[in-house]
Amino acid sequence: MSTPTPMSTRGEELGRMREDLRRALKKPAEQRHWAMVINTKRCTACYACVVACMAENGSPPGVAYRRVGEVESGEYPQVARTFMPVNCMQCDNPPCMKAAPAGAITKRPDGIVAVDYDKLKGKDVFERVSKACPYGAFSYDDGRFYTKETPALQAYEKAPTYEYGKPWVRTNGKPPVGTARKCHFCVQRLEAGMLPACVTTCDGGVSFFGDLNDAESLVSKLLRAHGSMTMQAALKTEPRVHYLVDDAQAADSLKACLACHR
Ligand code: SF4
Ligand code: SF4
Repeated sequence: MSTPTPMSTRGEELGRMREDLRRALKKPAEQRHWAMVINTKRCTACYACVVACMAENGSPPGVAYRRVGEVESGEYPQVARTFMPVNCMQCDNPPCMKAAPAGAITKRPDGIVAVDYDKLKGKDVFERVSKACPYGAFSYDDGRFYTKETPALQAYEKAPTYEYGKPWVRTNGKPPVGTARKCHFCVQRLEAGMLPACVTTCDGGVSFFGDLNDAESLVSKLLRAHGSMTMQAALKTEPRVHYLVDDAQAADSLKACLACHR
């Protein structure tokens, strides 16, 4: 399954997903079903998606919305190593929401699980929601900077970021400092008609994004054409991140990955 679609280049896949996005944004939010599809067979563990995510969302030390795990499976000489990009699954039945203070985590009509930084504050609250999430999606923003006293804080850490469509400046010590943070499918980019940063940055074309309520979208076609799995399906959290799997060996490797959650 080196090529999940008949398309020849990543450029064509990205063009197709941007068209899908434009079509979806014309519909009312409650008619969109945002989802991510990941083809681990294309991943080389280069971490470009992790860096792009951190740049887009102004992630400080200790905060990462996207991780790439490495899992070995099988027995010598039949061993395999699978690279496993993971971010918040935007669950349709999110246990984090039940563990959070009222209104601090909500499920938007388009399916994104959103955090209200003004309500999801404090280390104790972070620990509660983090424990509730089976996928290790949360990080705690403890107010550090990469460039503090190096000798000077650099412009990129002073600049505002625009998560959830609002400007956030961490230098004032206000939220998102002191909050639990996680992936939101780059909601600020989606609403400006752009795909998530991890999707557009990856040269390998690992991640796909779109509207599963649109039968013609690339993500819908991929899930119809290939087998797929979700992480920890038995927990019934109903993740919106789907991992493609077509053959028995890939299924075994992925099962080893998908069984692990941190
Ligand atoms: S950018 Fe693509 S290939 Fe690199 S680690 Fe992320 S998903 Fe894997
Ligand atoms: S992956 Fe974790 S943080 Fe994301 S919606 Fe599911 S339970 Fe909540």
